[in-house]
Amino acid sequence: MPEGHSIHRLARQFGDVFVGRRLSVSSPQGRFAQGAALLDGRVLEAASAHGKQLFLQFGGGLVLRVHLGLYGAWEFGGDATFRGASSIGAPRRVGERELADDGARQPSAAPPPPRGAVRARLVSENGWADLRGASACVVETAEEAAAVRARLGPDPLARAAAGEQQASDGADAAEFARRLTRRRAPVARLLMDQEVVAGIGNVYRAELLFRARLDPFTPGTALGTERALALWEDAAAAMAEGVRDGRIVTTGPQFWIGGSGSLPGPEDAHYVYRRHGMPCRVCGTAVTMAAEAGRKLYWCTGCQAPDGTRGAI
Ligand SMILES: [Zn+2]
Repeated sequence: MPEGHSIHRLARQFGDVFVGRRLSVSSPQGRFAQGAALLDGRVLEAASAHGKQLFLQFGGGLVLRVHLGLYGAWEFGGDATFRGASSIGAPRRVGERELADDGARQPSAAPPPPRGAVRARLVSENGWADLRGASACVVETAEEAAAVRARLGPDPLARAAAGEQQASDGADAAEFARRLTRRRAPVARLLMDQEVVAGIGNVYRAELLFRARLDPFTPGTALGTERALALWEDAAAAMAEGVRDGRIVTTGPQFWIGGSGSLPGPEDAHYVYRRHGMPCRVCGTAVTMAAEAGRKLYWCTGCQAPDGTRGAI
């Protein structure tokens, strides 16, 4: 499932190529035909993300809200003036890598005939975007969209998305700490709860817990405010890098062996995620995997011992 950094990149992409433009909106698949008819011919006024939710605000007070879920993805294309044509969405079985435009397609403002089940198609004078496989694609009033936002926990990327210099906001950090430390559930489960914190998915939760040297089964109530705030700061920093890089890299450069350019290959990008059975990069203990609330959890029993007394890197 795309994590929050991917959705913030999508919001940026929509801001770059579509905001201020009048869009033709359709549903080639038909499932979103009614919603598309409401938006067709309106100007896209703003694009924003909160956690894993994308909000496209159209003229007339209507909002297209999209949650990609496990399988959703956006595909973009356009003419030479349409910047950043790419696909962003569900990872194609290779972690969080985005599929870049392979250059095989000729630049064209006109969209190709729909392939597969295109739920929604947005078209401007210069380009187009196709949405497939989303778990939510609905037209809402501004009030309804605000109510969805209000139910979500704070988003570690909100401050960065607003263009502020600081990586995170103090009030959001305090709210996160409050929501995290008032519940007895394991911290690994709470980090995936979008009402505690919005945007963290399975990769970030495993990696953030490792970076904090935290036992994933530590109850939220046993964390304490200081460790909760440190988790928030690290989440904000790591996810901002994800927005910048378009993928999740949580390891430091000292662990990068493969890869090309300035980033590591996927085999060096994580400390514990999908590394079960392999030696921990720090202590050599075999990385452990277990199902936690239906999702696979990865951690190092050596570095993330239950006593919680080990310091972070
Ligand atoms: Zn270890």
